[in-house]
Amino acid sequence: MSDTEARLQAIHDRIRATAQANNRSEDRIQLLAVSKTKPADAVREVFAAGCRIFGENYIQEARQKIENLSDLNISWHFIGHLQSNKAKYAVRLFDLIHSVDSLKLAREIDKQAAKNDKIQDILIQVNIGAEVSKSGIAEEEAITLVKSLSSLENIRVKGLMTIPPYYNDPDAVRPFFQALRRLAVRLESLALPRISMAELSMGMTGDFEAAIEEGATMIRIGTAIFGSRT
Ligand SMILES: *Cc1c(COP(=O)(O)O)cnc(C)c1O
Repeated sequence: MSDTEARLQAIHDRIRATAQANNRSEDRIQLLAVSKTKPADAVREVFAAGCRIFGENYIQEARQKIENLSDLNISWHFIGHLQSNKAKYAVRLFDLIHSVDSLKLAREIDKQAAKNDKIQDILIQVNIGAEVSKSGIAEEEAITLVKSLSSLENIRVKGLMTIPPYYNDPDAVRPFFQALRRLAVRLESLALPRISMAELSMGMTGDFEAAIEEGATMIRIGTAIFGSRT
């Protein structure tokens, strides 16, 4: 077994153990391998070890990597901050955009998706910690945003995403995961057309077990798969 395979197996073991302990089905927890800053060859290795979903943060970097890896059957997800003027690339390259945090950006994605004859799946990125430095829409504004998105025909809202403030202690981030889930329940209860709250994208290398315990359906893991980023 290669080092990469061993690392992935260890992560899958932890996902399975946490899912079982919480009466959750492992099938409802998708693992995204976060490949930002890592070369295409490293992605090939992780693909060979079984990963099929990869997350990228920067459009420029992703365009080259995705081109280079077009022979592989990868589902690419965009997880970084997206500027409206890059929306056209995001729509062409990614199956799911996790980081929609404004009506302006959503409208641009909708427009580009229409041009490409595509229904673009998106998540709303929520700034649960209300930190100034991080992107994401404030919790109170998310409801207004989601209501406006319901009328856009070429996007489909699939759920919510958050990046909580960094703590070493996974239990310190747990309230942020809980808050995201509560918000999803509240939005789901509005029963808006074209709006689903099926997916919760939360949890990274340092806190993914806490995220699974609190309902994550997509965990985004970089360091534990690829090693540290320089
Ligand atoms: C880099 C990144 C990750 C992965 O972080 P690790 O701690 O390396 O697992 C997950 N989500 C987002 C949005 C990121 O930018």
